[in-house]
Amino acid sequence: MHDHSGEVFPAAVTAVPLLLAIVRHGHPAAGATALGLLDDALAFATHDASTRVATPYAEAVPICCALADRVRGGAGLLAASGAEGGRLLADADGHWRFDVEEAVAEGDGALAFGALAGRWPGGGTSVAAELHRPGRAVSLVQAVLHHPPEDGHPDACLRLPAVLPDGLAPPAVLFPARCAPGARQP
Ligand SMILES: [Zn+2]
Repeated sequence: MHDHSGEVFPAAVTAVPLLLAIVRHGHPAAGATALGLLDDALAFATHDASTRVATPYAEAVPICCALADRVRGGAGLLAASGAEGGRLLADADGHWRFDVEEAVAEGDGALAFGALAGRWPGGGTSVAAELHRPGRAVSLVQAVLHHPPEDGHPDACLRLPAVLPDGLAPPAVLFPARCAPGARQP
């Protein structure tokens, strides 16, 4: 295969902490360049619907979500880095991630309690999500935000119709399905 995106982009994910370090410690001009590179990388990754990378929390994460997660690792720094830092953080937060900590049966589906990173897109409406578990193929589920995070804590609850609690046993992680539409079987 000569698909370079599959090789270059995981390197971009790895480079995020380095670029954040340049923003934090570097000359202001170097910091501005690093912010621009982060912005470009996230925009480019968001348009890449097929590349996936392995992370400590899931085996095949859409490249944009893996990158956004790393960008959120510098949230405090970026929030203090002017308009461009704030915009980058807002873009990254569109690539939400939900880590399931506990699941219980509810009606014909399940309630999943866990931690939400980023910004939930749908209010009370149903959102298409990818469900990732170790050693399992990614499955597509519908999720509704049942209890949003409050007071700056990530704790939240999702309602997942037609999903059994067993299918959500940790470690289970959800990502936006819209991030990698080309990577799934139709
Ligand atoms: Zn994404």
